[in-house]
Amino acid sequence: MPIYEFKCADCDHVFEVMGSYAEREKGHACPKCGSTNVKQAISLFSAKPPSSW
Ligand SMILES: [Zn+2]
Repeated sequence: MPIYEFKCADCDHVFEVMGSYAEREKGHACPKCGSTNVKQAISLFSAKPPSSW
C-alpha cells in the first residue's frame, strides 16, 4: 500500500497518509495544528512526482 507524505505549510509538521490514490486526492488536515494548508511531499513508493502536479 502506498504511503503519501504531506507537509503542513503552517507549522511544517510532516505526516504520512497511507492509502489508495483516492485517499491521496482527498484533502488532508494537519494532525498537529488542524490546518488544511498542506502540501504533498514525495511519495515513498515513487521516485518521480505524480503527473497531477
Ligand atoms: Zn500544521
